[in-house]
Amino acid sequence: MTTPSPLASPMAPGLYVAATPIGNLQDVSDRLRTAFSQADLILCEDTRVTGKLVTALGLPSRPLRRYDDHRGEAARPQILEALERGEAVVLVSDAGTPLIADPGYKLVAEARAAGHKVFSIPGPCAAIAALSIAGLPSDRFSFQGFLPPKRGARSNRLEALKGRDETLIFYETGPRLAASLADIASVLGDPVVVVGRELTKLYEEVVDGPASALAAQYQDAPPKGELVLLIGPQEVTPPSLEEADPLMKAALQTLSLKDAAAKVATDTGLKKRELYQRWLDRDR
Ligand code: SAM
Repeated sequence: MTTPSPLASPMAPGLYVAATPIGNLQDVSDRLRTAFSQADLILCEDTRVTGKLVTALGLPSRPLRRYDDHRGEAARPQILEALERGEAVVLVSDAGTPLIADPGYKLVAEARAAGHKVFSIPGPCAAIAALSIAGLPSDRFSFQGFLPPKRGARSNRLEALKGRDETLIFYETGPRLAASLADIASVLGDPVVVVGRELTKLYEEVVDGPASALAAQYQDAPPKGELVLLIGPQEVTPPSLEEADPLMKAALQTLSLKDAAAKVATDTGLKKRELYQRWLDRDR
């Protein structure tokens, strides 16, 4: 611990992006309590939800104002003025980390552009909580938000995620889970899927299985509560040596044969030596 907390009393001026629990009140951090107690203004998605949280924590009430990026166009200048006056403004969402499938991006971007301090009060995030207990590779992952509700758009989005060599994380709703799993099965070749449900809450569970089997299981009994869906890195089938010819040709525009073979080998999973030899043989 070398950096002094920006939550010294009174709070330093700035925008504080603060995480709130995703279901378990005990996940409230000391820094969030301090921020709630001392903020000049708390921005939230729903003043009733955040008001209840402040009350449940037994904290004194501070001014609460509803904020979201889309309808916040008119509110942002006022918020920036508050920051200009040296106020401490706290941004929270209904649950979890703001900006993660929640509002705040435009406000943070504008606050930073205007030269204001933006501080993080990190904490719960359903995507990261699920990743940390799913048992899937976590060295590379990407957060994909919610899949589109309509089948065509959902299949297109999944098509674009084919072959991704990283764990994919989605947010999903109970009523849509079976349909999304069925599309995942048909577009991505029935990968194993992990479903994290009601994380940090009483009925927390983590279930895994082939997408098609889980789709069948949830078809008649959509799960209750909140869900995160994860898919591990997909097996990438390397192209044939012949199919890699156009890639070699493109790489050779700027690289030596040795370097081109190395690059295409990395990009495709083919063997560098075989790519190199094929190109030499072609020239004979
Ligand atoms: N910003 C939040 C975060 O950091 O996780 C997410 C907000 S997003 C609007 C809400 C979605 O997050 C839910 O529909 C669900 O997919 C997921 N989620 C939130 N809490 C969860 C929980 N306790 N267990 C599983 N998923 C959860």
